[in-house]
Amino acid sequence: IYFEDLALSDDVLDALYDMRFEKCTPVQARCIPTILEGKDIIGIAQTGTGKTAAYLLPILTLLKREPHPAEAINCLIMAPTRELAQQIDQALQGFGYYVSVNGIAVYGGNDGVRFEQEKRSLKQGADIVIATPGRLLTHLDLGNLDLSHTTHLILDEADRMLDMGFSDDILKIVKQLPEKRQTILFSATMPDTIDKFARSIMHNPEEIRL
Ligand code: AMP
Repeated sequence: IYFEDLALSDDVLDALYDMRFEKCTPVQARCIPTILEGKDIIGIAQTGTGKTAAYLLPILTLLKREPHPAEAINCLIMAPTRELAQQIDQALQGFGYYVSVNGIAVYGGNDGVRFEQEKRSLKQGADIVIATPGRLLTHLDLGNLDLSHTTHLILDEADRMLDMGFSDDILKIVKQLPEKRQTILFSATMPDTIDKFARSIMHNPEEIRL
């Protein structure tokens, strides 16, 4: 399947053209149409399968289609490590090159200067926030961002986040999101504990396993 045959926005397709992406990977072929329909997804996919584009491309298309209040964070992406958060942020800069969305990555570390920069960026408003759970909770507790209008939630490498002990943090964060939202979860493995956790924060998810 070619990207141009999917209902992605023209400015997303333009970025893909620049990046010489033509054909979907299998996980993209399965996930992109389903996410564009607004459904929740549990995706079982490893790194290297193209899972980042599988959720970023339709999310960029949807955010453009449904304009939101300027101050609202429309999409929250959670990742287990700062490395993954940075990678997702880089991918977003590429795929979103022609889309007027503002993405911010916030992740752990004891760098006070970076924390202040994150705080300032959050206060200025962002469309998409990419975050590690602990750091996000710190910003939330300080009132640096408001998730009450967030319509899309993505959990990347959910199994690693749970292994690292983030499940309580994630649940606290999810409680601050509207009930009515689209939730997308990717995990490399899907033992019962993760499946149960995933389903507890989702609405009729479609399971996509390749
Ligand atoms: P990921 O699994 O999201 O970490 O992606 C793995 C790598 O594959 C990244 O470097 C992507 O830029 C690249 N990639 C993802 N989808 C495609 C595609 N459809 N065509 C070519 N490269 C891709």
